[in-house]
Amino acid sequence: MKIKNPATGDIIIELKADTAETLKNKFNALKEGQKSWSALSVGERLECIEKFGALVQQHKNELAAILTEETGKPIQQSLNEITGAHNRIDHLCKYAERWLSEEVLVDSGNTREKIAYEPLGVIVNISAWNFPYNVGYNVFLYALAGGNSVMYKPSEYAVLTGKQFEKYLHRAGVPENVFQCVIGDGRLGQLLLEEDFDGYFFTGSYATGKHIAETVAHKLVPVQLELGGKDPLYVTDDVPDIKQAAINAAEGAFYNNGQSCCAVERIYVAERIYDEFIDAFVEEVNAYKVGNPVDPDTFIGPLTREQQLGFLSDQVADALNKGAFLKAGGQSVEEKGYYFRPTVLVNCDHRMKVMTEESFGPVIGIQKVASDDEAVSLMKDTPYGLTAAVFSSDEQRALNLLRKMDTGTVYWNCCDRVSPNVPWSGRKNSGLGSTLSFKGIRAFVQPKSYHLRNW
Ligand code: NAP
Repeated sequence: MKIKNPATGDIIIELKADTAETLKNKFNALKEGQKSWSALSVGERLECIEKFGALVQQHKNELAAILTEETGKPIQQSLNEITGAHNRIDHLCKYAERWLSEEVLVDSGNTREKIAYEPLGVIVNISAWNFPYNVGYNVFLYALAGGNSVMYKPSEYAVLTGKQFEKYLHRAGVPENVFQCVIGDGRLGQLLLEEDFDGYFFTGSYATGKHIAETVAHKLVPVQLELGGKDPLYVTDDVPDIKQAAINAAEGAFYNNGQSCCAVERIYVAERIYDEFIDAFVEEVNAYKVGNPVDPDTFIGPLTREQQLGFLSDQVADALNKGAFLKAGGQSVEEKGYYFRPTVLVNCDHRMKVMTEESFGPVIGIQKVASDDEAVSLMKDTPYGLTAAVFSSDEQRALNLLRKMDTGTVYWNCCDRVSPNVPWSGRKNSGLGSTLSFKGIRAFVQPKSYHLRNW
């Protein structure tokens, strides 16, 4: 595998990918290791996870540099991710024992009924590159807490970070035969589908997720999918501060170069404030520092994947052909590296790909709406169902709109946000199942119901 730096296109390192044989050996080891790992108490497993968290924080500068080098994420955003992801560990330490302990439901006369939560066994975590700490922790740490052993396959664009997870988990006391990282591209991913895992946990695109779910369906084991989105934001005519609304919306659209599953992907603006909002939005986007991701002031670095440059150019051309106006950006940067200028398209509508197809990059389409009803019908016009946001000074108005959304998450006056306290789940083409919260803790265990009767 050639690991490249997206800021330059240069090869950082060449690594030997796993093969069918090494994968099999690792799988067999995980099968064995899971037995003693699951025999530990939840508290003992959490001790290792807590230690892992402390080691990561201790080495966060070095780890952030690795993440930036292989994904192009601006260094400050790499640090933010590593620091922020620690809230999953805090959440587990606070709640895992509560949600994984036995529950006695009936204890009367000579009858007891209780539920015990048992691990699934050996699970596989096929992961994405855009927020490897956040989306990785959501799966592998929660799975380990539940007593499973884990095979972790990082994306081919976040391999070095995946290897660091392995190194620090082992250092923190998670045995080698309880967590294993396998590296390779989609072909290795395909081999994983042939192995007899007790659960498949995937983060990535709808196309790959659907393929995985279809391929492993016959095994009748849990399959969980965290997929893409086309997340809408509606800015109503009663926002108290149009400039601030524009700044927040732009951050939701362009943070991490728009390469976030819950990035704002399309914006609807009430016609009364439309012009003022666009001016403020464009001013904000033009002020973003585009450049070398190792510079602490950079907000927009290179895209992680070179092929996304052509994809975004096609979306922009399609929108312009159908009547959109370009207010900022619009093309890649004529230099080394995979840079695409932050792009704002206005006068958009749903004939354009930019309003219907996940961009996953620094391109946003904005459309004017005449009423709340029109906004709702456009927001719902998507096969995805990850998040939806409304900016308004009227909470009741916002809640009435958000209730109509068929999405796993809704936001009032915020966006592009994940918290371990509440479930993270996509509906429709955005996924299946939940991570985080009590749902995410329970996702990696199976109930055993005990009916107990004294003679
Ligand atoms: P992807 O191309 O679908 O890849 C995801 C993972 O699947 C990678 O590890 C990939 O390996 C692997 N893979 C590829 N082909 C496979 C196959 N045939 N069988 C098994 N595994 C296979 O997605 P991505 O580009 O990494 O991530 C971007 C997408 O993820 C976006 O749509 C984004 O919205 C979504 N996402 C969703 C969430 C969420 O929480 N809902 C979070 C983050 C990202 P290689 O990379 O080595 O090819």
